[in-house]
Amino acid sequence: MPEGTIERTLVLVKPDGVRRGLAGDLLGRFERKTLKIVAARLLTVTPQMAAKHYEEHASKPFYPGLVTHITSGPVLALALEGRSAIGVVRLMVGATNPQTAAPGTIRGDFGSAVTPNLIHASDSTASAERELALYFGPSDYQTYHRLDAEFA
Ligand code: UDP
Ligand code: MG
Repeated sequence: MPEGTIERTLVLVKPDGVRRGLAGDLLGRFERKTLKIVAARLLTVTPQMAAKHYEEHASKPFYPGLVTHITSGPVLALALEGRSAIGVVRLMVGATNPQTAAPGTIRGDFGSAVTPNLIHASDSTASAERELALYFGPSDYQTYHRLDAEFA
């Protein structure tokens, strides 16, 4: 089986995750999985940023509540890098609805409601590229060697 190419993906610990004091725990899961933090930022998403981030959902009934939630307090934005990082992070995040997300996933272990479901993760190469550019500029990315990279 091929090892998978190195990808970058966007993760947001959503305002509910930050308010619950889970940002460190969630980031730790990704670090332990050998994903590398290449950029990080604590910020409050503006309504304009939320509209761009969630443009694919603009016509959905849950959209107004989603924008209200994502702009309700700070998020921890992370650019994570690793082998097949986009798919690996989505697996770790779990299904959208925490009530049916598998135990062992972030939403399955910590969540109970759909809108405040703790975390966002890019779902494809195109989404990752588009979403990373909303939160990070070229100079935000750091280059360094993870000590466990040989085994990652
Ligand atoms: N969402 C919601 N109600 C729904 C579906 C989604 O409030 O019925 C919210 C939820 O916070 C979710 C976000 O909208 O994370 C984006 O939805 P998507 O289907 O892209 O889910 P995700 O990719 O985050 O799993
Ligand atoms: Mg999505």
